[in-house]
Amino acid sequence: MGSYLTPEETIFRSKLPDIAIDNRRPLHDYCFERLADLGDRPCLIDGASGAVMSYAEVDLASRRVAAGLLRLGVGRREVIMILLRNSPEFVLAFLGASRHGAVATTANPFYTPAEIHKQAADAGARVIVTESCYVDKVREFARERGVVVVCVDDPLPEGCRSFSELTKEAEETEEEEIDADEVVALPYSSGTTGLPKGVMLTHRSLITSVAQQVDGDNPNLYFRKEDVLLCVLPLFHIYSLNSVLLCGLRVGAAILLMRRFEISAMLELVQLHRVTVAPFVPPIVLEFVKSSLVDGYDLSSIRIVMSGAAPMGKELEDKFMAKLPNATLGQGYGMTEAGPVLAMCLAFAREPFPVKSGACGTVVRNAELKIVDPDTGLPLGRNKSGEICIRGEQIMKGYLNDPEATKNTIDEEGWLHTGDIGLVDDDDEIFIVDRLKEIIKYKGFQVAPAELEALLIAHHDIADAAVVPMKDEAAGEIPVAFVVRSNGSQITDDEIKQYVSKRVIFYKRIGKVFFVEAIPKAPSGKILRKDLRSRLASPFP
Ligand code: AMP
Repeated sequence: MGSYLTPEETIFRSKLPDIAIDNRRPLHDYCFERLADLGDRPCLIDGASGAVMSYAEVDLASRRVAAGLLRLGVGRREVIMILLRNSPEFVLAFLGASRHGAVATTANPFYTPAEIHKQAADAGARVIVTESCYVDKVREFARERGVVVVCVDDPLPEGCRSFSELTKEAEETEEEEIDADEVVALPYSSGTTGLPKGVMLTHRSLITSVAQQVDGDNPNLYFRKEDVLLCVLPLFHIYSLNSVLLCGLRVGAAILLMRRFEISAMLELVQLHRVTVAPFVPPIVLEFVKSSLVDGYDLSSIRIVMSGAAPMGKELEDKFMAKLPNATLGQGYGMTEAGPVLAMCLAFAREPFPVKSGACGTVVRNAELKIVDPDTGLPLGRNKSGEICIRGEQIMKGYLNDPEATKNTIDEEGWLHTGDIGLVDDDDEIFIVDRLKEIIKYKGFQVAPAELEALLIAHHDIADAAVVPMKDEAAGEIPVAFVVRSNGSQITDDEIKQYVSKRVIFYKRIGKVFFVEAIPKAPSGKILRKDLRSRLASPFP
């Protein structure tokens, strides 16, 4: 018999007091609130060229982009797709969309054309902002759908508009009246089940999330105006967009943009620009630990290394700390739908709290977190593992055009169900121990099994298929497939792998194929993924 627990015993809150958050305004106003004090300070540093834009320049250019979007015919609440690597243009396109009262959907430029088209069509993108090297991926789609392609570099490919047209001086347009509950960012995530869906993040949710991390005259203000933030994680993922870019803008830090991760270039830039905060994902931490190059650089400026988006074990944490003994390493825990930050390491606070290794932080302020028994739905007390749920103004408004999926993720009381299994210990620290949901995390990138299963089943030699994660040292997890061949088919594992790799981005490629007689399913038809995952642990899956 379960014992009766009071709400105080099952609803977990931050150790820090709540703060007043003025989230009833547009995101850009909030981010640039202290512009008068920041004007000439460096805002964006382009790692590739070394070019610096000040806060005043970024503010002005983003106003021009907003006016430029209007000239391109983008209406209020309409969607633009940002298909860019990290660059000043990414930031300007995002802020310009926000100022215009439009919505930015962000996508990985390494996606295959089919993956890009799916997202652009689902989001209803009117404009795609991209680089000349990716234009061929979207040209056909754009022509068919009447989508405008804006290119940020020269020479301008045929049929494209130039980004410089958007940033040029033009007549001032009226600032749009924006309701804080309008959507501003539309990243895609498969959530706890199914295919990728548009995650509607409003001005209010993003302001709340940023404020929970860096606002308030209290010890949790872990980014400072003097900081130089390394922005090597892709801005198309909400972790980097929120916890690096938006938090950085809010505090007035300098944001060092890197187009892609490459260890020696990164170390060079850290040393050159005296980077103080380095947000990473575990595979970067791993590469850092393994690389002999690290010892050749002066990295003493780094005071915080934050890791998130995937689990990081104690052993890796310890090895990393041996290399950078003066820095504080800690984890954050995020999920796109949660805005995304649920928890943050309190060792980053100005007056730090002791933390245990392996913990992924303590719940952010102005939010409630609970752990529920996945079978009964009942809340659990400390040190008991169950599904992590979060409630607060930072969470998504819902999935775009998918009320059913929204209802299955945010319950009637406003709790967002993460699909992660974890516990809260006696010191309020959160430990993630397992995953209830389907997603696979390759180096922090999401792979939706449903997407790969749909592809596999579409092949005439495949009768049925299921995709699950397999542990991998470098990537964390890789997708592997259990496949039932069609009657009489002799299809090989290599043929299946090649078929998939032609159609998906590199990190969704199938690592291994296991041929089976049948896919284990519940009477409802649901794949019994846990059975398959446990089969992987046996020597002959
Ligand atoms: P995404 O929506 O792509 O950010 O993926 C969110 C998921 O990544 C979470 O629901 C977790 O499963 C996983 N995740 C994020 N941060 C962590 C962390 N610090 N430790 C373990 N898993 C994490």
